[in-house]
Amino acid sequence: MNNKKSAQIYQEATKYMPGGVNSPVRAFKSVGLNPLFIERAQGSKIYDVDGNEYIDYICSWGPLMLGHSPSQIVDGIEEIIKKGTSYGVPTKIEVDMAKIIVEAYPAIDQVRMVNSGTEATMSALRVARAFTKRNKILKFEGCYHGHSDALLVKSGSGTITYGVPTSPGVPDDVVKDTLVCRYNDLDAVRDIFEEYGNEIAAVIVETVSGNMGVVPGKQEFLQLLRDITKEYNSVLIFDEVITGFRLHYNSSVGYFGINPDMVCFGKIIGAGLPVGAYGGKKEIMDMVSPVGPVYQAGTLSGNPLAMYMGKKNLEILRDNPQIYTELERKATKLAEGLKSNIEKLGLDYTVNRAGSLVCLFFAKGPINNYEDVTKCDISKFNKYFKEVLKRGILLAPTQFEAMFLSNAHTDEDIEYTIKAIYEALKISH
Ligand code: PLP
Repeated sequence: MNNKKSAQIYQEATKYMPGGVNSPVRAFKSVGLNPLFIERAQGSKIYDVDGNEYIDYICSWGPLMLGHSPSQIVDGIEEIIKKGTSYGVPTKIEVDMAKIIVEAYPAIDQVRMVNSGTEATMSALRVARAFTKRNKILKFEGCYHGHSDALLVKSGSGTITYGVPTSPGVPDDVVKDTLVCRYNDLDAVRDIFEEYGNEIAAVIVETVSGNMGVVPGKQEFLQLLRDITKEYNSVLIFDEVITGFRLHYNSSVGYFGINPDMVCFGKIIGAGLPVGAYGGKKEIMDMVSPVGPVYQAGTLSGNPLAMYMGKKNLEILRDNPQIYTELERKATKLAEGLKSNIEKLGLDYTVNRAGSLVCLFFAKGPINNYEDVTKCDISKFNKYFKEVLKRGILLAPTQFEAMFLSNAHTDEDIEYTIKAIYEALKISH
């Protein structure tokens, strides 16, 4: 594989940007490689500046449910650009977008658009704290909720990859009210509520954690969170930045049948443009300025280009339920193929799947929490990653992320992937 141009760009990139990248996991540092610089992408394929083609399972870390640059979404965007790129005053399409999201998420009455998942979770917490007049929050080990200070405690994703689950630069005072429990641990939740229940403003959780590989929340764990937050008048927040509109058109409400008090969305609702949103019941959202006293704002929030793409994307997902059936079928096929690979090779590894999120863990199962995930053989994963890449498949360059399937992945892509992964596993063990 020729990576000459990527290597040249990387040289220059490191001069002007920390690690040559704008987000740490893009650096490929954890797998001992330099990053690939991308030229273009279409459907399930991505092409780097050296002309190498890959089947893409990063899919921009989740938002591309329909694959790269689907014509049903991107066609017409030139017309929108010509009308102006940002106004700073309201547009009708923001209302349309809010309506689609609220109608798809029966637990909420109102939503506010922001620009990223980080902004969504950070803002939701502020609102929940003001609503309950309490300070403490509960999060779970290995769940990542963006990089705002209060939530950057024992997180997942790039923070596990680079071994900094709680970042320097986050003052102790800022995180003293962040309580942390083990994911899927019902007793830990009961214990922490017994001790601090009346001080807990909110519980924030990924219903399926996609930031320590793929670790689905157990039904009884999520139900306990629902019941106990109700009992103690705390706000239950589902962080659906990865799961929203992916697990189900009605997100975790449809998938698990549990209603939170607030929800956070991110990348998926923007279909690849920078978008996030948080929402909740009206009495909670009435706290938000200009109705209530909680300040939260954004110059580019509800940006017309992002709203155009996001709205079209959500309309397609809403009007074509077969997309979810197909995603489920393809993800099952991939997961079953990976299971068969590890069985044939006699490897004691684990495949987790939830909807169209799939992960091959280099560790014995069951994998239910952060502790289980940290048992993975990272050096073996790193060798495997390189072998998979050589065969034209782009996985997340870390054990702690999902393989994201899109509707553009074909059966041939999946069959080829299973075969290539078999060879890569064989060579790297
Ligand atoms: N919450 C979850 C569950 C995420 O997976 C992420 C990012 O991957 C975030 C929040 C932060 O979103 P963003 O990167 O858009 O700030």
